[in-house]
Amino acid sequence: MKILITGGAGFIGSHLAEALLACDEEVFIIDDLSTGSIDNIIHLKENPLFHYTIDTIKNQSLMAELVDRCDLLFHLAAAVGVKLIVESPVNTIETNIYGTEVVLQLANKKKKKVVITSTSEVYGKSDAIPFQEDADMVLGPTTKGRWSYACSKAIDEFLALAYYKEKKLPVVIVRLFNTVGPRQTGRYGMVVPTFVQQALLNHPITIYGDGRQSRSFSHVSDVVRGLTGLSRHPDAVGQVFNIGNNKEISIEALAQLIKKKTGSSSEIVYIPYDQAYEEGFEDMQRRVPDITKIGRLIGFEPEVGINEIIDSVIDYYYKQ
Ligand code: UDP
Repeated sequence: MKILITGGAGFIGSHLAEALLACDEEVFIIDDLSTGSIDNIIHLKENPLFHYTIDTIKNQSLMAELVDRCDLLFHLAAAVGVKLIVESPVNTIETNIYGTEVVLQLANKKKKKVVITSTSEVYGKSDAIPFQEDADMVLGPTTKGRWSYACSKAIDEFLALAYYKEKKLPVVIVRLFNTVGPRQTGRYGMVVPTFVQQALLNHPITIYGDGRQSRSFSHVSDVVRGLTGLSRHPDAVGQVFNIGNNKEISIEALAQLIKKKTGSSSEIVYIPYDQAYEEGFEDMQRRVPDITKIGRLIGFEPEVGINEIIDSVIDYYYKQ
């Protein structure tokens, strides 16, 4: 098969490309390197089945050509990372909505299957833990920038489902929960690489808020397995799936675990949200996926726990 990955030089995209190449698929990627990096794909460049284009998915004629050449599309290109979203809200909304529009419109011409990656952010502040795919979205007001990310991704989901219902375009929607692993950078605020880098440098480990908020982290290899599994299953079409790990850890416990594993002398400091992000920033207290649906369809179960997840990130930064 010929497979197109938008955002293929990103953290998750590059791991997905690697996994597909390992199955002898022909992989095309497009990435504008806004948050992705050539370093993420440099080792793939020698592979004759790997092709890369450095450009934006907003370049419609180029995208038309790429979509035309491929049988399956993974749409991962997006503005990601809460810090980036708070700092560049216009770009977040435009990239996430317009980019997906382009991908769906082009895919629809010859009804190419599209896997649309959405996010656990769409559940927002809901306390209906664990989050089920058909649960309500509980978002804050439009005056609080963070929610633009969830809203833009929710529009992507609506649009993809509309293409499925109205035009019979085969789409699969996946909501990724906090994904971690080698190549993820802390530059856009993601907590695990940030804490690991701080710990390795013996710099203060910065907990935002009181640290009692929790997340469920999954390793990128589990996420990639979920993505490829769903893309291959005919019954996944027209549906929404959570992909993640349902084991939860508080941010404070995470900081302590990373400090211990790195043998760091870092001090652990607490920074108010207003200072870390922006005035009036709202965080979510807990975020846990219900993974029954993906488990039932493709037998998905996360294999990598928090200890191995952290070890893989420490390992990666040691080698940098
Ligand atoms: N966080 C933190 N210190 C940091 C970066 C993040 O305490 O240096 C917190 C953040 O406020 C959130 C959690 O860690 O509660 C996860 O943040 P991340 O940006 O990785 O992902 P999110 O779940 O917010 O999308």
